[in-house]
Amino acid sequence: MGTLEQTLSTPLGVVEWFVYLLAAVMFVIGLHLMNSPKTARRGNLISAAGMVMACVMAFAVLFVNEASNGFQHAVAVALLVLGIVIGAVAGVWSAKKVKMTDMPQLVSVFNTVGGGAAALVALNDILTSESAPSLVVLITAGLGVLIGSVTFTGSLVAAGKLQGLKFMRKLTLPAKAVWNVAFAVLAVLAFVMLCAQPEQRLLWSVLVTVFALCYGLVFVIPIGGADMPVVISVLNACTGTAVAMSGLAINNIALIVAGALVGAAGVTLSIAMSKAMNRPLVSVLAGGFGGSDAASDAAEGPEGTMKETTADDVAVQLVYADKVIFVPGFGLAQAQAQRELADLGELLKGHGVEVSYAIHPVAGRMPGHMNVLLAEANVPYEELVDLDDINPQFPSANVALVVGANDVTNPAARRPGTPVSGMPILDVDKAQNVVVMKRGRGKGYAGIENELYFKDNTQMLFGDAKAGLQAVIAAVKELLA
Ligand code: NDP
Repeated sequence: MGTLEQTLSTPLGVVEWFVYLLAAVMFVIGLHLMNSPKTARRGNLISAAGMVMACVMAFAVLFVNEASNGFQHAVAVALLVLGIVIGAVAGVWSAKKVKMTDMPQLVSVFNTVGGGAAALVALNDILTSESAPSLVVLITAGLGVLIGSVTFTGSLVAAGKLQGLKFMRKLTLPAKAVWNVAFAVLAVLAFVMLCAQPEQRLLWSVLVTVFALCYGLVFVIPIGGADMPVVISVLNACTGTAVAMSGLAINNIALIVAGALVGAAGVTLSIAMSKAMNRPLVSVLAGGFGGSDAASDAAEGPEGTMKETTADDVAVQLVYADKVIFVPGFGLAQAQAQRELADLGELLKGHGVEVSYAIHPVAGRMPGHMNVLLAEANVPYEELVDLDDINPQFPSANVALVVGANDVTNPAARRPGTPVSGMPILDVDKAQNVVVMKRGRGKGYAGIENELYFKDNTQMLFGDAKAGLQAVIAAVKELLA
């Protein structure tokens, strides 16, 4: 793609520019509408329509511009059609088939594809220009290649870890900080050389790509447990930045705006996540703050026994309580038991019990996961209480009912030397009585045993969260009848 003046010098170029501008405006409007659950669906549709327009325009431009060159033209069109068909089928299939709880992996796969595509677009721009590209193009395209390649491998590993692939969890990296710094320095040096020696652009751009791909791997492999939410947000920011840089290099306003939106949102989220998780962003970027997954798997659990309880007994505790705090976690999402939890809340409130929901910023597998789930079940917004506000309330709660939450309640976070150390937790153990609902003895995402389950004031109600809540609801109704 040429300069803006070249683009606007033909009627098709003017149409192209306006269509991309319109697509960019639709992305902004769409994102704005995603501010509220009521308008989010419309926002999604508007953004998707903008993306379809941009794709159709890109196809039309290539179709017309390449029309003079017979065979090449046919190959280019066939590849484009193939790409669109594969992308559309994969998109529709994943939207229909992938479960809500697997969304984080899907988002990571999208980041992989987005980062890889941005790197390829930028690489193509550097390598196919006949004369040496200007310094501005080298800087923007070079950054597109560098950041896009890091995102490609980093997101691929992150998707594998989120999917719980065993071989990914087993991967370790001795002297992780050395590898991290080495590949980061090499990638930046190759980028600087690319800008300094444009005539050697093939060599330097290949080296930027290789070193950046390696950095993506060594950056994410050692990271486990509580650092993962921060890493995912950082990779999200990287995808957006890579796309924006590639857009600047090829002068495509739709890519610039879409990339800038994703990049800015990702940076904001990364800062919010690292604050919420008490993880300095720099130390996460330098190779992980907590322990690796492999170290978690090897860690020894607390001593003691767990005490089991029954749905009938839990119902009695809840009905005779003045104040109950629900603590939802990933297991609630896995069981899709949000409606049952909301129903139990309504029942207890109707009986005069004060009910609130403790929301940990990284409970579940994506930022805001619990807010989305509970909003879906129409839980009143004012009953969702953030970590800082709910923690002082636990000592006055007669019952804390933990539904499928694990890591976010683990008192081990208060001690140094564990994969969750330093992560702020919900002070569930300070409640007068604790009931934990989970299927069995499965560990949380960080892969370590939860000390809460062995405390004197904790009882375990084993079973799927949905079935367990239904049993508790039935028992409460019987008591109140
Ligand atoms: P965890 O993943 O720590 O634990 C979930 C628990 O739910 C498991 O111990 C499991 O035990 C139980 N469970 C699973 N399925 C069911 C079911 N059907 N019914 C009942 N229980 C079930 O969840 P938390 O929400 O406490 O913590 C989130 C973790 O994920 C944190 O470590 C966080 O760092 C990490 N993370 C968060 C991200 C985010 O952005 N929010 C992104 C990436 C990672 P059992 O198998 O015995 O049932």
